[in-house]
Order: sequence, then C-alpha cells, then structure tokens
Amino acid sequence: MEEVGIKVKEKRIGQRACDEKDAKGKLCLGHLKRWDTMPPEITTRLGLDGQIYRCDKCHVLYRASIQDRSSAGQKYVNRTVDLLGNAVRNHDE
Ligand SMILES: [Zn+2]
Repeated sequence: MEEVGIKVKEKRIGQRACDEKDAKGKLCLGHLKRWDTMPPEITTRLGLDGQIYRCDKCHVLYRASIQDRSSAGQKYVNRTVDLLGNAVRNHDE
C-alpha cells in the first residue's frame, strides 16, 4: 500500500481560511472545517489529539493551536534596580 503524505499545519487563533499556497504561490483560502470523523488510525499515526480542522479545498489538516498565554494581558514595566535590589525611579516619573 502506498504511503500517503498528510500535511498538518498549526491553525492560528481565529484562523478560518486556509493559508496554504499552491505551486504558483497563490493562497488556497479554503474553508477550515472541524474534522470530527477523522479515522482513528490517522490520529494515532500523526500523534494528534484535540481539535482537528481540514481545509475543504486542498484537504490540508490543521491542528488547533494551543493558546499562548505566556504574555497575554500582562504588562511588565522595566525598572532599573540598584545593587541593593531597590527600584530606581526613572527620570520621567
Ligand atoms: Zn486549503
């Protein structure tokens, strides 16, 4: 049996259109649809879990991206600290 190559891409948050490019560099823009009927052997072979989407045009698979919370909603202010660990006031404060 011939091995069929399956391409899996990472789906960006909120992404709904396929950004796969064809040989001419043209965007596919196919609709990404939840693929709930994915055969289990494919899931296992690709090591996938969670939500899988598939482009209805070129059939590239998309894995829902794990939301990056590392910097979401947080604002760090850089502060100069002196040798004793005390915050030094910035000149413009
Ligand atoms: Zn596509």
